[in-house]
Amino acid sequence: MKQTILGVRFDSLTRQQAAQAGAALLEAPGFHYAVTPNPEFLLAAEKDASFRKILNEADLTLPDGIGVIYAARILGRPLQGRVTGIDFAGDLLARLNETGGRLYLLGAKPGVAQRAGENIQAQYPNLVLCGTHDGYFQDDAAVAGEIAQAKPDLLFVCLGAPKQEKWMVQWGPATGARLAIGLGGVLDVYSGQVERAPEIFQKLGLEWAYRLMKEPSRVGRMARLPLVLVKALKGRFTKGE
Ligand code: UDP
Repeated sequence: MKQTILGVRFDSLTRQQAAQAGAALLEAPGFHYAVTPNPEFLLAAEKDASFRKILNEADLTLPDGIGVIYAARILGRPLQGRVTGIDFAGDLLARLNETGGRLYLLGAKPGVAQRAGENIQAQYPNLVLCGTHDGYFQDDAAVAGEIAQAKPDLLFVCLGAPKQEKWMVQWGPATGARLAIGLGGVLDVYSGQVERAPEIFQKLGLEWAYRLMKEPSRVGRMARLPLVLVKALKGRFTKGE
């Protein structure tokens, strides 16, 4: 079931259901893509119709940020739960590990995807890491071609939003991957460069606060997030979004 939150249609799924849906996409013929919007995506999508269309046409749209969950509740359209990009990614890596599937990592600063790949490979020894490429390139067609030659089943695209979503839609089919997922800073986490918030922060829905503590320079970006809740409130008491 889909729920529209501030103009973006989200899948209302538990983490387990999302993992099953992702596994099914990995097996279905053709190219598919999944997106993991947080409140910043919603604000950007409001102003960028092409980004909004891409989010709404995704095969799977999972609520990454606790702000999306709160906005949904305020609008009276609660979602089953938060499914973070990194949890969804981990579940699909576990799946790939079972099937011996092929993984390609695209994005982040030079060297990061490779280090992330080594860590992933150590944790999931049965999947095939078929290639990596940093996220600072000019020739999109050449990169898509390199990925196609590596024949991945699963492709992580970590270029930041909305660049990664636009890239997936334009170049994803040319990569030959079954499923591409836009995953923001996930390679920085897998590489060990950025630490994920401890479990207690995750459970309390306070990962954003932990990230802010570690990277205070993000305060400008984050200060805009309560805006999403205000917009949801407005939506609730006017004709709705
Ligand atoms: N990035 C990239 N190419 C670009 C811009 C960004 O590969 O042209 C990477 C950047 O190095 C980082 C990720 O994209 O690894 C985005 O990180 P950010 O924390 O901004 O993403 P978020 O998860 O907050 O969307």
